[in-house]
Amino acid sequence: MTGERGGEIVVVGGGVVGLTTAVVLAERGRRVRLWTRDPVEATTSAVAGALWWPYRIEPIALARVWALRSLEVYEELAARSGASGVRLVEGVLGETRLDEVDASLAERMPELRAATAGEYAGSGIRARLPLIDMPAHLPWLRERLAAAGGVVEARTVSGLAEADAPVVINCTGLAARELVPDPSVRPVRGQLVVVENPGIDTWLVSTDAAGEHAYMFPQPGGLVLGGTAEEDAWSLEPDPAAAEAIIRRCAALRPEIAGARVLEHRVGLRPTRPAVRLERDTLPDGRLLIHNYGHGGAGVTVAWGCAEEAARLVG
Ligand SMILES: Cc1cc2nc3c(=O)[nH]c(=O)nc-3n(C[C@H](O)[C@H](O)[C@H](O)COP(=O)(O)OP(=O)(O)OC[C@H]3O[C@@H](n4cnc5c(N)ncnc54)[C@H](O)[C@@H]3O)c2cc1C
Repeated sequence: MTGERGGEIVVVGGGVVGLTTAVVLAERGRRVRLWTRDPVEATTSAVAGALWWPYRIEPIALARVWALRSLEVYEELAARSGASGVRLVEGVLGETRLDEVDASLAERMPELRAATAGEYAGSGIRARLPLIDMPAHLPWLRERLAAAGGVVEARTVSGLAEADAPVVINCTGLAARELVPDPSVRPVRGQLVVVENPGIDTWLVSTDAAGEHAYMFPQPGGLVLGGTAEEDAWSLEPDPAAAEAIIRRCAALRPEIAGARVLEHRVGLRPTRPAVRLERDTLPDGRLLIHNYGHGGAGVTVAWGCAEEAARLVG
């Protein structure tokens, strides 16, 4: 059956989750084809900032395991070369005390300590964490997949059963809402502004008194400023008022940002679900279907742990 179907496994979805899953499988000797509606550069994953951080997503205990495994991989990638787009960069998470960080995470987070008063006004923690330049990382994953014999095809499915392989892996993010169908997957819209970097080389995540987040990630293509989180908002159009507010909040933290030239506006819809869905299922004709979607605002953070778990579920 597998021969004439042209491949052992079809991964549907070419964002960070689909690409990483396909890489893990192909490097374990599986024949993998990856189908994607959008070029990898036009996925939600390409919008992300992207900082490795153990954001609280469900299921919390498993997400911690996936995040720590991914941390290990990103540390290895950062140590190797710049081509992967992964670097270890120091920065501060504001409004957080050291004793609030889960102990199992704290012992693994590189150079974790309380931020000094000079580093942050207020309580904050400082660490050296993976900062992933997604416009570089996604094409790098695609190349790594190709090097392992995997094939990327521009294909749009209207149902997962269209994938013509004995094993299908669903990494379609927000599109799983219609494809599964799974109405519990919902968008949380995020907007970012990329500005010319006025000389900032550490990342910063902060929350003001009104609960508004401001963050800045120094990436090779500019300083990425964020951000917004709007539930059930579907527009991919950048909102000029939101962009202005992002710049204002970031400039309140680092005044030199105020005059920085805007290079780009980015909008993405986080594929949010009450809990990540990573499990075995079957297609109507009995073929194995594995779901790996619903990673919300943490898909980059957990990608490698989830990919290895998906590969384990293939058997
Ligand atoms: C503003 C913003 C900032 C973020 N910052 C961070 C961060 O700092 N750290 C972090 O860990 N995460 C961050 N995230 C979250 C992260 O981007 C997501 O969790 C992650 O991108 C989800 O990846 P995915 O591969 O599941 O989905 P996607 O990237 O959306 O990929 C889905 C894939 O499915 C394909 N597809 C969809 N429908 C079909 C179809 N019918 N047929 C074929 N293919 C189909 C698409 O073309 C695409 O290839 C951020 C997100 C946003 C929006």
